[in-house]
Amino acid sequence: MDQIVFVSHCILNTASKVVLYDLSAAGAEEALRLRFVSVALDKGIQLIQLPCPEFTLYGANRWGHVSNQFDTPFFRNHCRRILEPFILQLKEYLQHPERFKILGIVGIDGSPSCGVDYTCYGDWYGSFEERKDLEGTLSTARLGDGMGVFMHELADLLQAEGLADQVPLRSLYADEPHKCMDLLG
Ligand code: SF4
Repeated sequence: MDQIVFVSHCILNTASKVVLYDLSAAGAEEALRLRFVSVALDKGIQLIQLPCPEFTLYGANRWGHVSNQFDTPFFRNHCRRILEPFILQLKEYLQHPERFKILGIVGIDGSPSCGVDYTCYGDWYGSFEERKDLEGTLSTARLGDGMGVFMHELADLLQAEGLADQVPLRSLYADEPHKCMDLLG
């Protein structure tokens, strides 16, 4: 039987991520990502790559955002549109339980889009030009409980299709590595 995990796009392609200037800050997450992918491949688990909602809307030169900024009807609509083909794939695999087992979906905690247990919040908006309070504005960014916008839409779609109980939603988060690793058995 094929075991399948749906993963956030950057678990398999870190080129999609926002450009990072302090790579050491991402070191623990990158180590866990490599461990997760390596164990999945060693166990013969199939990985299906979800689309990156930010890259497909704002491209490679986007700024880092917080979830408040993506919490718009337009971004939510974009998320739903790109998720639809994956919901169909999920349904088809679930229709053949004798051949396929969906282990779950893995997002990225802390992401404004792909966070599952934690996302980032902040009072961010406006032009940088002539701005006097930029440091103060940037300092409002914080990690907090809650889903990123893309995962929230995905959870809603699963709920609407009656699939939520069949598909565990987990996350890759360096401080809590068991959440993604336990999914692989
Ligand atoms: S939006 Fe999601 S898939 Fe895209 S880079 Fe951020 S965490 Fe990764």
